[in-house]
Amino acid sequence: HVGNSWEQRDMESVFHGFTDLETLNKNGPVVLTHGEGIHVFDVHGKSYMDANSGLWNNVAGFNHPGLIEAICEQARRFPGYHAFFGRVADTTVALSEKLVKLSPFERGKVYYTNSGSEANDTVVKMLWMLHRRNGQPQRRKIITRVNAYHGVTVATASMTGKAYNAEFGLPLPGFIHADCPHYWRFAKPGESELEFSQRLARNLEELIIKEGADTIAGMFCEPVQGAGGVIPPSEGYFQAIRPILRKYGIPLIADEVITGFGRTGEMWGSVKYDVQPDAIVASKCITAGYFPMGAVILGPDLCDALTRVSEEAEEFPHGFTAGGNPLGSAVALKALDILETEGLLENVRRVSPRFLAGLNSLAEHKYAGEARGVGLMGAVELVADKKTKAPLDGKLQVSERIANKALQKGLICRPLGQAIVLGPPFIITEAQIDEMFDILRETMAEVFADVGL
Ligand code: PLP
Repeated sequence: HVGNSWEQRDMESVFHGFTDLETLNKNGPVVLTHGEGIHVFDVHGKSYMDANSGLWNNVAGFNHPGLIEAICEQARRFPGYHAFFGRVADTTVALSEKLVKLSPFERGKVYYTNSGSEANDTVVKMLWMLHRRNGQPQRRKIITRVNAYHGVTVATASMTGKAYNAEFGLPLPGFIHADCPHYWRFAKPGESELEFSQRLARNLEELIIKEGADTIAGMFCEPVQGAGGVIPPSEGYFQAIRPILRKYGIPLIADEVITGFGRTGEMWGSVKYDVQPDAIVASKCITAGYFPMGAVILGPDLCDALTRVSEEAEEFPHGFTAGGNPLGSAVALKALDILETEGLLENVRRVSPRFLAGLNSLAEHKYAGEARGVGLMGAVELVADKKTKAPLDGKLQVSERIANKALQKGLICRPLGQAIVLGPPFIITEAQIDEMFDILRETMAEVFADVGL
């Protein structure tokens, strides 16, 4: 990347996170200029089908005129204001009403942040304040699950069950991880899916008792674990753990940063899996990826309790300068509107069978262990041996090679551990789904040949 190319300028000026630096140094970055429908274009005019909707969020396409106009119209009228000191933009009030109406709660309130991480982090502080004011200051421990992803702030990285936290000396004390409900990977021989879910629930109860129920502030769950490799819950999992959390008075927070607004084919993952949380954390699709925004939607009980303790304390002493920004609110209102009026949610339901069939066809490959998914989120897990489920030699970097080769062929997909993860935009057509799997099938064959398998 010689001279003054965009690639070279990137290498000299951008510090990339979540990027394999060896691959970056070898292949250089992909510098993008614009998008059209489900495709993005780089500075050389090359087009890429984005099978990950950006990072799960660009679900309405990269150049939706209605979303662009919503931002422009708001920018002309009132482009920026905060939500501190009892002030708020009218558009943000309208969005809050809409979010509560769309939520599974009969009533509630919305608190705004700029990202999913900040929204989860905010809920931790809400729970800490609540318990403290309720005379239980020791209730500070947070339960999440192995393979969870809840963000990158100090608290939410601690909630994330990922090995890379070791680089930062995390998790912080008091952030504990329960079992991951991945039946294919963690079931005992002969155990049915329901038995597996019940075993995990018993383990959770033991964990709660061991830690001390009165030391636990809350439990956070992604309805479908996303960055952990797209792991839908085992059958009956939420039905098994919900009564235990109720028994010990532990609030359940649904981290719907990926699953919120239609990804599973229902508006909420909580609805898909028939579980009632105490609060929902949303982000990503809330603005269809057009503006940074996170939101905590408080269900009635948590909302009432937090209102009461905040009144006692005079305020909830927490806020982000740009939380509830009117540009974000305007585009979110439009994004939520088009989910219904332009049939996006309906399209997820319509094309999902084709998508899941495509995943299953990849799973016929000799080195594919499991295809799993729901709605328009899915993964194929690669293994060395279908029977024993033994992982491939990590040094071969098969999933990374597949993603890199697919990129050369104009398809963006994501390697996560030994899985290939897909989460296409909600506007994808069946023909585009077929094209995506044709490219992947061809790429997988080439890569396994390259590595001599
Ligand atoms: N929670 C979940 C389930 C996520 O998938 C993510 C991001 O991918 C986050 C939280 C963090 O969101 P953000 O990257 O906006 O901070």
